[in-house]
Amino acid sequence: MKRIIADIHTHTIASGHAYGTIREMAQAAGEKGLEVLGFAEHAPGIPGTVHPFYFLNLEVIPQTLYGVRLIHGSEVNILSDGTLSLEERYLQRLDYAVAGIHLTCYEDAGRERNTANVIACMRHEKVKLISHPDDDATPLDYALLTEAALETGTALEVNNSSLVKNHRKNCVENYRTMLRLCREKGAPVIVSSDAHDPSWVGRFELAETLLEEENFPSELVLNTDRERLLTFLGM
Ligand SMILES: [Zn+2]
Ligand SMILES: [Zn+2]
Repeated sequence: MKRIIADIHTHTIASGHAYGTIREMAQAAGEKGLEVLGFAEHAPGIPGTVHPFYFLNLEVIPQTLYGVRLIHGSEVNILSDGTLSLEERYLQRLDYAVAGIHLTCYEDAGRERNTANVIACMRHEKVKLISHPDDDATPLDYALLTEAALETGTALEVNNSSLVKNHRKNCVENYRTMLRLCREKGAPVIVSSDAHDPSWVGRFELAETLLEEENFPSELVLNTDRERLLTFLGM
């Protein structure tokens, strides 16, 4: 498989339960040989996360640190009514948004409704990635999800932290189902570390093993190519 050169779903101390600064995370990314590092601080709904005012001043951060291009998103909660937990005026200031279900602010509504909620969020033009669509605590219909990914230009994530922590229900089986459908339909994925500490930046081992086991084509892994990734993100 082609080398993964970007990690666009990571968290700094701003998220409240993560432990590195922007500079420590960037340094770790540089040491790992990454070309692009994306920050996706949690949006409102996650206890202790940053006030969204944070997202209005991102332009003061250097574009490049330790030789790594820095880009700025937010991991926004998908809410039980299919809306996003971050107001439009903040979403518009981001380079991209990651949308995901978190149980701290989502109640399982069954496979059909959960899937409809995720797809409704995919339709927002800033949402480029669906984080950790892998937990049967809030089950998803992967056939519909992969079709919507193609239709809306949204990538589905293979989240290495989900695989490491291994406390999400049917996580590996769900990823296998998702990857087979992505391969069949030509729907793109992005592999992320979801690092909450510099030591986890650029760690993709379990995700890569899974992709190899599924013979997943490198062309469909968007973060193996810097220009392709940035174009996909609309940058
Ligand atoms: Zn998350
Ligand atoms: Zn995250």
